[in-house]
Amino acid sequence: MPQVTAKILDGVAVRNEILARLKPRIAKLKRKPGLAVVLVGNDPASEVYVRHKVKACSEVGIYSDKITPAATIKTEELLDIIDQLNKRDDIDGILVQMPLPKQVDSQRVLEAVAPEKDADGFHPTNVGHLVANRPGPRACTPAGVMELLKHYNIPIAGKRAVVIGRSDIVGKPQAMMLLHESATVTICHSRTANLPEECRRADILVAAIGRPGFVTADFIGPGATVIDVGINRVTEPMEAEGFGKLEAFKKTGAVLVGDVHPRDVEQVAGAYTPVPGGVGPLTIAMLMANTVTLSEMRQARG
Ligand code: NAP
Repeated sequence: MPQVTAKILDGVAVRNEILARLKPRIAKLKRKPGLAVVLVGNDPASEVYVRHKVKACSEVGIYSDKITPAATIKTEELLDIIDQLNKRDDIDGILVQMPLPKQVDSQRVLEAVAPEKDADGFHPTNVGHLVANRPGPRACTPAGVMELLKHYNIPIAGKRAVVIGRSDIVGKPQAMMLLHESATVTICHSRTANLPEECRRADILVAAIGRPGFVTADFIGPGATVIDVGINRVTEPMEAEGFGKLEAFKKTGAVLVGDVHPRDVEQVAGAYTPVPGGVGPLTIAMLMANTVTLSEMRQARG
């Protein structure tokens, strides 16, 4: 058996710490922070995500309001709902659960959320704040990754960071956040030439691709820190077995795996995030953090 040396970066522990730090901040506010979660339709995965978000609100002491329009809603009707939420005094953060049904113009909906209530940090104004390194809500998943790196004292300044993926919600904001911490950043994507070679140079490798076990040993430089953002549902027993998860698969008929192959990463990397239990818990913690910060700012303005 090859020797396993890599350190596991525990996202649940960091999540708990982030939530614990929020509680005294919430206690100081005159009014509870309020988060509105808009869940359109009955997509099962979205329902699970929203349930976790609402649960985290109650755990930390944030008021939450779940709004559940039918899947048949039109763009204009959803814009009306957002407009009402923008005007409500008790709501500091608004989150529209993606994906929206096909007939809805998602971009218009995201842009309708008032930037000062944008709990996800997706509004173009807040994307601009991120690029300019000014205060404002940040995209939750990459912000959670930064918290994890800081928690474990993983050096960033002067290090080579490679991000695989260039989505607006993970890859691009992740690269920008690493850049602001003075990493030398490379962004890779489906058209990158010599991808394993690019990745092997990384001191910090972030995989946000959406392909089970795509990152194998040849992508990982010895001792690198590997952050696996991917969450992929595997429903084939043979594939689950390849990830060493056949027993779990037999119980539930599906398992979650990341973009990084667990067998390879634990043998080559210096440290890595597991799936589940790595980046996943941090996303919701940062949503809570964004909501509290937005509430503090609104309540300070009066
Ligand atoms: P996305 O919008 O589909 O973007 C995927 C990115 O990966 C794209 O930039 C794509 O490149 C790149 N890519 C795809 N195939 C590739 C290949 N063969 N080689 C190199 N690059 C490739 O996905 P996303 O929303 O960023 O999410 C990525 C993963 O993170 C998914 O598994 C998602 O479920 C997970 N996720 C997890 C959390 C969490 O809380 N942990 C939050 C958000 C997302 P192109 O741009 O060239 O197509």
